[in-house]
Amino acid sequence: MSAGKSGNLYHLFESRFPADPAARFLTLMDGPRQGVWYNYADMASISARFAHAMMALGVKRGDRVAVQVEKSAENLFLYLATLRMGAVYLPLNTAYQKGEVSYFLEDAAPTLFVCRPEDEAGMKALAVQCGVPAVATLGIAADGSLADMTIDLPHDFETVALGEDELAAILYTSGTTGRSKGAMTSHGNLASNALTLHQLWGFVPGDVLLHALPIFHVHGLFVATNTTLLNGGHMLFLSKFDADRVVELLPQASVLMGVPTFYTRLLSHPGFTRDLVAHMRLFISGSAPLLADTHTEFFARTGHAILERYGMTEAGMITSNPLNGDRVPGTVGFPLPGVSLRIADEKGALLGTDTIGQIEIKGPNLFKGYWNKPEKTAEDMRADGFFITGDVGKVDARGYVHIVGRAKDLVICGGFNVYPKEIETVLDAIDGVVESAVIGLPHPDFGEAVAAVIQKKPGRDDVTEASIIAHVKGELANFKVPKRVWFVDELPRNQMGKVQKAALREQHKGAFAG
Ligand code: AMP
Repeated sequence: MSAGKSGNLYHLFESRFPADPAARFLTLMDGPRQGVWYNYADMASISARFAHAMMALGVKRGDRVAVQVEKSAENLFLYLATLRMGAVYLPLNTAYQKGEVSYFLEDAAPTLFVCRPEDEAGMKALAVQCGVPAVATLGIAADGSLADMTIDLPHDFETVALGEDELAAILYTSGTTGRSKGAMTSHGNLASNALTLHQLWGFVPGDVLLHALPIFHVHGLFVATNTTLLNGGHMLFLSKFDADRVVELLPQASVLMGVPTFYTRLLSHPGFTRDLVAHMRLFISGSAPLLADTHTEFFARTGHAILERYGMTEAGMITSNPLNGDRVPGTVGFPLPGVSLRIADEKGALLGTDTIGQIEIKGPNLFKGYWNKPEKTAEDMRADGFFITGDVGKVDARGYVHIVGRAKDLVICGGFNVYPKEIETVLDAIDGVVESAVIGLPHPDFGEAVAAVIQKKPGRDDVTEASIIAHVKGELANFKVPKRVWFVDELPRNQMGKVQKAALREQHKGAFAG
C-alpha cells in the first residue's frame, strides 16, 4: 500500500501540513517551559524519534501503548508516533490510581506502559504484576526515560501504510456504572470525524485554537488536536483550564473548545468582556450539557452564541449546532453529515418527532466495538448496525436533537418513567437556583423516588427545601416532585465537567430507607 492510498490518519494529517514546515504547530502557555514552541518540522521529527524509541522497546504494529502522563507537547507527539507506527494509543485519565490502572493494564495487555517519572517505581512493580513487558516515563519538562532515549535516534520515520479499519486508539469509557470498557477506534473513524468537523466548523488558515482540555479524552485529544492538524494550524497549549490565563490568552486565539464549566467560569471572571472576545471566531462546548442560561448569558455578555455539540467515546462527535444558522440553547443541533441518528424505544421500535426515547446512531465515526468484550458490543448494537448510545433524547420538528440524560439516570417512580432533565429544567428556572441534579433513590413504596441536589446563589436563604417543593408542585405531576432537596456549594463533577450522579445516588441512597 502506498502512502497515497494509506488509511493511516497521520498520512492524512501530513497531506494537510502547511507548505512551510517552519509554521508553528504548538506553543506552551504555562508550566516550567512556558513560551517554548514547536513548528510542523519539529512535530514530524520528534514524533519520528518517539516511534523509533517505541520500536526499540519492542512495540510493533497492532500493539497497545498505554499512557498515563501529564499533558505536554511530547505527550501529543507520542500519540502521533503511535499512529505513525500502526500501534494503538491508549491514554489513561491522570486521576486514575493504581487499582484502576492495573485493571486497564490487565485488560488491554499493552506492550509498553508510559507513566509519569514520579510514578516510575510504583508503576514498574504494577506493570510487572500485570505482565506488561516494557515501562518508560515521560515528564512535563520533555524529560523521562522515553524522551531521553530519543536523543540519538533518527529524525525520519516511514509512517506505516494502513487500512482505515485498523485500530488507532482504545479509550476507556468513564465507567460510572460497572467497570469501564475499552472503545476500539480506527484510523478511519478518526479521519472521517476530523474531516467533517474541520469543514462543518469552518476552520480557515490562520485559526488559532486555545487548547485547555485534557488530552486523555476524545474532546481534547481527537476533536481539538485532529482538527488543528487538518488545518495545518497553531494551538496555544495550556496544561489545564485557568480562567485568568484564558482571559489573558483569548486575544491571541480565534477558537476555544471547552466543557460547560469553562464557560461558567469565564462568565464569573471580571476581565471577560465583549471587547476581549470581539475578534473570536468560535466558542464550542460539549462533553456535558450546557445550561440554556449559560448560553443566554454568554450571548448577552459577548454577542457570541456558543456552538454546542454532542459526542461520546464510542463515536467521537455525533451532532452539532450549525456554524451558520440558529444555535439553539438546550439542544445539541443536527446529526453530523454522514451520521444517522434515530430515536427508538427499548425494543428498537422507532419513535416520532418530539417523542423521548433512546438515541441510536450509525456512521463512519462509530467505533469497532469494545476491546475484549464482544458480548457487550453485541448487546449495544441493533441488527442493522445502529449503536444504542445509552443517551435518552428526542428530535424536534426542526430536526434539532435534545439530550434528556443517560438511560441509567432515568428514574422509575411507581412504574412511571421520570426524566431528570424535565425536573431539572423546572428547578433551574427558579429564581435563586444556579443548577440542579435530579436523582432517583431507592424507596420502599415507589421503587424509586425523585430527589434533588441544588446549588443555589450565595445569600439566598429564602430558597429552602420547602419553597422548592412548593414551586415544583405547581408545575409538575406529583410523582415528579422531589421528595427531598439538598443544597450544596457545588455539584460534584468529573474532569470533563459531567455531574457525577452516581456519586450523589451513593451519598443519599439511604434517604428513604425503612
Ligand atoms: P464520554 O464518552 O466520556 O465522552 O461521555 C459521553 C457522554 O457525555 C454522552 O453519552 C452524553 O451523555 C454526554 N454528553 C456529551 N456531550 C453532551 C452535550 N453536549 N449535552 C449533553 N450531554 C453530553
